[in-house]
Amino acid sequence: MSIDMATLALMGAAQALLMAVVLWTSTGSYAGVARASLRLRAGAQALEAAAWGLLGLRGHVADWLSIPVANAVMLVSYAMTVHALRMLLGAPSRLRMVAVASVAGWLAIVWYTWGATSFQARMVCASLVIMLDLALLIAPLLDSLRRDGSAAKRVLLATLAIAVAIVLWRNAEPLLSSRPATGLLVPTPINAIYMMFSAMQPLFTSVGFLLLYNETMQAELRLLARTDPLTGVNNRLALIETIGRLLDAAGSSGRPLGVLMLDVDHFKAVNDRFGHGGGDRVLLSLVERIQRALSHGDVIGRVGGEEFVVLSPGNDLCRTRALGERIRTEVERAQLVFDGHVLGMTVSVGVTEAAPGENDVTALLQRADAALYAAKHAGRNRVVTTGDVAGVPPASA
Ligand code: GH3
Ligand code: MG
Ligand code: MG
Repeated sequence: MSIDMATLALMGAAQALLMAVVLWTSTGSYAGVARASLRLRAGAQALEAAAWGLLGLRGHVADWLSIPVANAVMLVSYAMTVHALRMLLGAPSRLRMVAVASVAGWLAIVWYTWGATSFQARMVCASLVIMLDLALLIAPLLDSLRRDGSAAKRVLLATLAIAVAIVLWRNAEPLLSSRPATGLLVPTPINAIYMMFSAMQPLFTSVGFLLLYNETMQAELRLLARTDPLTGVNNRLALIETIGRLLDAAGSSGRPLGVLMLDVDHFKAVNDRFGHGGGDRVLLSLVERIQRALSHGDVIGRVGGEEFVVLSPGNDLCRTRALGERIRTEVERAQLVFDGHVLGMTVSVGVTEAAPGENDVTALLQRADAALYAAKHAGRNRVVTTGDVAGVPPASA
């Protein structure tokens, strides 16, 4: 069987170009980090197509086009891919390191093209940069090896692991073979495998990127659907889900779950005085104040306009009451300076606890609400527990 290396290179180019279009058109109108990353990878793929086109045309176009220019375009496209993937995975970009290595590697390629002509030396220089790129691509994917790891990351990891093996093999060829390749298009076994892999690789990495894009976008949308847009804390949906989870955990650990519901006193007056926008800013500083009183593991969520719920796993009624008191004092002490006016603010707090084994979220919140109502009724700026309220059991009966 004879394999035409130039044809393989041009097939790789065609496939990379096709995949660039697929990636670009798959991003839709959703504007998030996932889309920016996928578009960057699409751009990289288009450059890779150009580079493979030039490499495949070696002998038909000038050497300066098919060697230094093709390698420069390829190294830029790899750097873009590193940036795109690390951006998508939230890893530091390392762009400067990649840029320095790519420029140094490329200058060495130029030197070994016209200074001291050597295909082997050129290949080693390009491979060193490619190995750095591969390491930076692989590192943030390694957590997918865990049992519940991401399938998308595994697809990319497998493709990149094959790439590492092939690059190592190519570089070891002069040691292993009596007749190593003297050029990219010379059909030695490893060159043929390298070119075949390069022709298929755009498909595998594009599938990996698309799956990862999908996973990331779903995670972003999930977070968006569970975050209060004004204050950035959990919204009602997230809070209800968290209560369910914490009740299950309380059931297994045999420890109680403290629940606080709090509402700003006379907030309408704040809105009347400073307008709705002013009221919003007051709510932001209120959340900041409440968070100062919380401990690690406590969870806060906004369940209404100026109404918040705090969950305190492991705390019984008495300790949750103490937490409520800390929050109340923290808010009362805060002197908000607003448009040159000093604004005092207070909150009323209702406290209850879920005994281990309780699993009725609605009943739990109703008890906290009843305690909050009692705090308002008793004159505001105070903490009332369910134990203090006639007719409301301190915890589930
Ligand atoms: P109370 O002490 O009885 O709680 O008195 P209050 O004035 O705080 O009364 P209430 O809790 O019933 O009123 C809440 C007010 O909060 C009514 C509404 O105008 C305002 N509000 C609700 N959501 C928002 C919001 O997102 N931003 C702002 N600025 N105000 C809001
Ligand atoms: Mg209020
Ligand atoms: Mg209210």
